[in-house]
Amino acid sequence: MFSWVNTWRKTTSCASTRKKVQNINRDGCIRCGTCCLKGGPVLHHEDKGILLAGHVGYQHLVTIRKGEPAYDPVLDTVRPVERELVKMRGKEKEWSCCFFDEKSSSCTIYEHRPLECRLLKCWDTSALEGLVGKNTIVRADIINARDPITKVIEMHEQECPYREVEELLSSLSRGTDKSKTLARLNELVRKDLAIRFFAIKELGLREEFELFIFGRPLFKVLSSRGIPVRLA
Ligand code: SF4
Repeated sequence: MFSWVNTWRKTTSCASTRKKVQNINRDGCIRCGTCCLKGGPVLHHEDKGILLAGHVGYQHLVTIRKGEPAYDPVLDTVRPVERELVKMRGKEKEWSCCFFDEKSSSCTIYEHRPLECRLLKCWDTSALEGLVGKNTIVRADIINARDPITKVIEMHEQECPYREVEELLSSLSRGTDKSKTLARLNELVRKDLAIRFFAIKELGLREEFELFIFGRPLFKVLSSRGIPVRLA
């Protein structure tokens, strides 16, 4: 199953691997890049400053919508998120953080890296574990409330609630009402695309902001779960 798994937290934070982590024989970062290659951080209110200062922009972010599966490092399981999360985007199809420079194995915003990155020590994850799920930001925290896109986000959440997608996927896996379920999923995909199109063409939303404003397109969510989608 696809999930918004922030795998570096999976490898370094969960209880079942903590013992392994504690066995890492070092007390400083050796810039191996493993943590950055496995995914960017979730943002917290403490990170607003780096956004306001322009070190990180909407084009670097992706929203994990309420109800979307994500890895919970405290419970060591994948489960729907209880509230939306905003995290640093990967590179195209990879999870590798968009700010990680593989050639130099370094963070291109190191002086301004987010809180989770500052607290992450792969040899001692206790500080990071205390932070998981606390004081995280949502889109509304970093979008001007008077921006017309806020109304479009509300409409998107009402018309294409992520929770319903998961319910329909569960119903598909149980084999109940398959054609009806697929028809509703297709309807949600079409609405999702129509709202994105409207925001870009009519409101002038920059395409590079789309993943932050609306999260991942539903057709991508479904195709990653092996569900064929008719876009025509
Ligand atoms: S922001 Fe920098 S330190 Fe944090 S995951 Fe990305 S590349 Fe690594």
